Order: sequence, then structure tokens, then C-alpha cells
Amino acid sequence: EVQRDPKIQVARLKLPILGEEQRIMELINENEFLIVAGETGSGKTTQIPQFLYEAGYAQQKMVGVTEPRRVATVAMAARVGHELSLTSKEVSYLMRFEGNVTKDTKIKFMTDGVLLKEIQTDFLLSKYSVVIIDEAHERSVYTDILLGLLSRIVPLRRKRGFPLRLIIMSATLRVEDFTENTRLFKEPPPVIKIDARQFPVTVHFNKHTFSDYLKEAYKKTVKIHTRLPEGGILIFVTGQQEVRYLVRKLKASFPYHKNVDYTKLITKKVTPVNDADAALDSEPDDIESDDDEVEKEMKRARKARRKAKLKAKALPKINLDDYDMPDDDGQADLVDGDDDSEGHLSDSDAEEDALAPAIKSCRQPLWVLPLYSMLGSAKQARVFDPPPPGTRLCVVSTDVAETSLTIPAIKYVVDTGKKKMRVYDHVTGASAWRVVWTSQASAEQRSGRAGRLGAGHAYRLYSSAVFQHDCAAHHPPDLCRRPVDDLVLTMRCMGIDKVVNFPFPTAPDRLQLRLAEKRLQTLGILEKVESKKKKADNEETLKVTPLGKAVSAFPLLPRYGKMLALSHQHDLLSYTIALVSALTVQEVMNGKPDSWPATGNTLLLGDPGVLLRVVGAAEYAYVNGEEEVFCAKYGLREKAIKEIRKLRKQLTSEINLSIAGVDATVNPEMKPPDDNQARLLRQLVLSGLGDQVGRKIGLDEVKEGL
Ligand code: ADP
Ligand code: MG
Repeated sequence: EVQRDPKIQVARLKLPILGEEQRIMELINENEFLIVAGETGSGKTTQIPQFLYEAGYAQQKMVGVTEPRRVATVAMAARVGHELSLTSKEVSYLMRFEGNVTKDTKIKFMTDGVLLKEIQTDFLLSKYSVVIIDEAHERSVYTDILLGLLSRIVPLRRKRGFPLRLIIMSATLRVEDFTENTRLFKEPPPVIKIDARQFPVTVHFNKHTFSDYLKEAYKKTVKIHTRLPEGGILIFVTGQQEVRYLVRKLKASFPYHKNVDYTKLITKKVTPVNDADAALDSEPDDIESDDDEVEKEMKRARKARRKAKLKAKALPKINLDDYDMPDDDGQADLVDGDDDSEGHLSDSDAEEDALAPAIKSCRQPLWVLPLYSMLGSAKQARVFDPPPPGTRLCVVSTDVAETSLTIPAIKYVVDTGKKKMRVYDHVTGASAWRVVWTSQASAEQRSGRAGRLGAGHAYRLYSSAVFQHDCAAHHPPDLCRRPVDDLVLTMRCMGIDKVVNFPFPTAPDRLQLRLAEKRLQTLGILEKVESKKKKADNEETLKVTPLGKAVSAFPLLPRYGKMLALSHQHDLLSYTIALVSALTVQEVMNGKPDSWPATGNTLLLGDPGVLLRVVGAAEYAYVNGEEEVFCAKYGLREKAIKEIRKLRKQLTSEINLSIAGVDATVNPEMKPPDDNQARLLRQLVLSGLGDQVGRKIGLDEVKEGL
């Protein structure tokens, strides 16, 4: 019998999902699969595990809940435990490197990667009576793979006589990918929709789109706080550093002092504000209209896109300007000490100065709190507490506040329209976290956060033209954005045999998957195994070779991973890292140089040996402050050299992190390889690019051929 705190009971009863408890439980009892599509904040994550607990699903076996984000894993376990008056021994969480699961755990929140690992040792997931895949709309790679696997595990468990139930929970976005996919579910599972009480939110676009979106966010927040009635502010930015920067800046502008009673100081802004005032110099949401300003803006946007396209053509493929350390839930932040990401966070300008009087005369403090994935759990929890009396709550968050966590009492949303996304280079498989426009669907989700308390306002810090033309309706699922070679190897390493026929929620191109399998065989990363059973479907069984296992640890396409894995054996890792970095940046040489660094060989432009020497020599020049002169002298593109340096550093630290026992260093004074090393390096390059070898033939031979 559950004993809930009366206060909790009152809060629960306000949640729309409570009214649906009986219907939900009937559907769960009668079906193996169920999709719950509910408005964010309707109570899916915190309440459904409790329904299951009270219905006895956690008695013999566990209720497992997966989250794509670490922050939600911890926060939701704590909340559900609290609401049920249970301890963390019974409602626990587990994620990589951290957790509090015990043998008495009844409800287990975990990251999706953790459950995937468990499937590798216990395919039937025999410890669970119910598995909930939460935030399925986020379409993380692991969630998608889990859904495919679970679509097969559930029928197996039925056959074995101890059924497993699967509940897919999602914001109300694109559930058709799950319901209309007959490969995934032969019979479409029942869908239950939960509507949340949602008040109208007025959306305001900026007239112009400025690149310094943090400054815009600051300015807009100042205007809201100094001019508009009470109500929490939620600001969306892209990463930890931006969060911390804005928190600092806003705190400095509207400081809070512990021992002051602010309830007496402030003169409440009680006058109701009409929409025109609330617009705060933004445009109304008139994306349907085609007045001049919109037209002009669209032209501007088109021009900017054309320009960006031209620029993209001329530049190498990997933009390392914001290449930074990934972590496993998309909240990466720069690790390099020397990054210049705060360079654009200029502290003052004329427009901001114009706000100074308003800031000065406002005596109400802003209670500013950060929220991002890597924030400690005690600090995360503060966003749920009411702010000190007389202050205004302001949460600066990454996209974790979009659907994972619902912060109470938000009335104003300030949306930069940006998020960080892992972008892959399809030539090298190197990935970088890039700041991109959010999808239109995300923008709508973010705006919706302002309408939970009452009518709200959402300020998009970009123009309606950008929304219409630069924001995709949805971003494709992560799994489809990842290079297929990498995906195939990853899935094989998970023990998934038939990658080509895998029941993906959204399948990558099957021909590409097949080609990737062939490539991996050629590279010696996968190999055929003789199957004793005659296969009716004529399919080969492929298994990962020991080399393949080593290769899969490297954060690059398998062909480059192979070079790195092999060089690790021969102690050539730092050379290979330099070489791979150089090979992945295009157009290192842009002119005819006067002379080459002495090589002792006659070498062709682009020869890996030359590249390697170039990298070494350029690094040496850089250390001595002569990079510019050096590049000019030898016809090197300085930007490319800088990119190679950044990628080298990045690869080195990623490899040191991901591969145990490796301690590679970026040695600026890398000596040119000796003859033996050079020979080995040539072999290494061939080992990874063997399928791309061409033979130079004379013009006469071509004519003969014709
Ligand atoms: P959903 O999963 O449908 O988006 P949730 O179950 O996450 O909804 O949230 C339901 C409600 O519980 C929200 O109003 C949210 O603010 C509240 N809530 C969640 N965690 C906490 C917490 N730690 N403290 C107070 N309220 C919380
Ligand atoms: Mg949720």
C-alpha cells in the first residue's frame, strides 16, 4: 500500500494523466505493446511507473524505464521515489559510471545505452516485467535500436511463458513512425493520447536574425523582467558554457542578496499587459502574411543561404570551429582550454547600454538557475523549487527542458532557436558537435513550455523567414544521420546479426547497409562464418573479427579506425593520428610552393608522406610563431593547417579517453618518421584505403582502351 504525502497527492491530481489511470492500466493489462503519446508535462514519466507499481508489476520483477538523457534518468528516479515515499534503494537509477541500483530495486530508471548493454548478456531481459522506452520521439540511436530489439524480445517472452510488456512513451510527435511500420510491429499497437491543459502561447518572432543569439537572449530577458508581469522565464541555449555565461550575466544585472526581504521592495507590475506591449520589439506571429518586411527578410535569408552554400563549397568538409568533446547525451561542451567560444560573448555594446537605466531602476532580483545535462543532481533539482519570495524565476537551459523536464510556473520562453547536434562527416566518420537551427517541431515544443501556468509568451530570437526556410519540420532520426559503416559495425558489436533486415523504426537505405557490410569484409573487420544450419533466406552470417573489435573503439569511420588500431600495435599512433587528421581536411595545399621541406624523395602533391611532414613542420613553425610565414612560403592553406591541429588534439584526447591503456600525445616537435616507420605508415594507409587504390595510367593507354 502506497503512502503518499498529501501535498504530493494534491499535485498529482492536477496532472491530466491521473484521469486516465484506469484506461491506461486496462490497455497495459490486455496488450503487450502500448504507445502513450502525451503532451509534455502531462505526467507520463512520473506517473506511469507509479501506476505499474501500484498494479503489482514491480512485485516479482522490475519495471525498467529508459531515458535518452542522463539528467532525466537521475531526476525522474528521485521524483518517482519521492512521490511513492520509497527510497533510492527501491526506485533507483543506473547510467554509465554512476547509479544506485540495489537488489531491492523495483523501479529502475536507466539510460538507453545501459539497457542495450543488458540485452547483450540477457537477451530476454528476464529481470523485467515491463520496459518503458521514454522520450521515444527523441529518436536517439540507442532508443531506435532498443525498439527494434524489443519488438522481437516481447513475442519471445510470450513463447517462453513469462510475458514482457513494452510501453513506448513519446511527446505528441510523429508516432506514425512506430505505428505504421509493419516491419517493427505487424499489428499496430494501441495508442493512447493524453492532452495536457495547455493555455494559449503568443509567439513573437524577431524582425532580424542576429548571429550573436546570446546577446539577443540577454536583451530580451532584461526587457521581460523589467517590463512584464510576474511569471517565470525559461531561456533555451545550446550548451553548458552558454548556460553558465548567461546565468552569470543575468545574475550580475539583477542580483539577489540573501538577507533582504524583497516582498516589500518591489512594486508589483499588476497592470495586465496587452499583446502589443508584450511583443517587446518583436514581430507578431504573422508568418502567414506576406507584408514587405517578411518579403525583405525572406530575400535576405535566401541571399544568406546562397552565400553560405558558396562558402561551404570552398571550405573543407569538417568545420572544426566548433569541434568539441562529445559525451553520451548530446550536451557536449568544449574542453579545450584555448577555444574561443566565449570570444563572441562581448560584454557590452550601445544597445545593451541603452538597457542600463531599466536595469538600474529594477530592484527585483532575478532568481537565475542553470540547467544542463552534466549539472550535479542537487543543483538540477533546484529548478523545481519555488524561487525566494519577491524574486522572479529564470532558468537558463539546454534543450533538456524541451521535453525531458517540465519546470513549473514558466510564463515566458526565450528561444535562441539553436541547439547542438552531432554532425558527421561522411567521408571520415569524424563527428563534431555543431550549433544548428532547431526543427520547427522543437520550436513548437519550446514555445509550449510557456503555457502551463496560464497564457504565456514565447520569444523566438530569429525571424519568421528563418523559421519557415531554415528550420526543418523535423530533424531526421540520429540513426539515419550516422555513417552506415559505423552503424553496421556498432550493431554487429552489439551482437545484432542481421543489420540489413533489422526492424528499424526508420530504416537507413538497405543497399547502403549491404555495401557497408561488403566494405567491412574487405577491410577485414567483418568475416563470414560457416553456418551449420542451412539458411533458407540465403543470408550470410558475418561476425566481427578481433581487429574489428579494436577498430570499433575508435571514433572514426572503420577504415580510419583500422589505421589507428594497427598503428597502435606498432607504436605509430601519434603519426597516424596526424596523418588521419591531415587526410580528412581537404585542400591542405593551395598553391605551387617554392620549395618543399626536404623529403629525400620525389613525392606527389597529396602524398601521405608529404602530408605528414607538412603537419610536423607546420606545427614546429607554429610553436615558433612562424606559422603564417611558413604557410605562405610552402603554399599551404593556413586555415587547413589550423584545422588539422585542432582535429589532432581532438582525436588524441578522444582516443585517450575511449581506449584503455592508450596515452597518445600531440607532440609538436614530431620527428619525421624514419625509413622503417615510413614504410609501415605506407602499409597502414593502404590497409585502410585498400579498396580505393587506383593505378595511374599513361594517356596512350587511355587511347588504346578507347
Ligand atoms: P511528462 O513525462 O508527461 O512530460 P512529467 O511526468 O515529467 O511529464 O511531469 C509531470 C509534472 O511533474 C510536471 O508538472 C513537472 O513539473 C512535475 N515534476 C517533475 N519532477 C518534479 C520535481 N522534482 N519536483 C516538482 N515537480 C516535478
Ligand atoms: Mg517525460
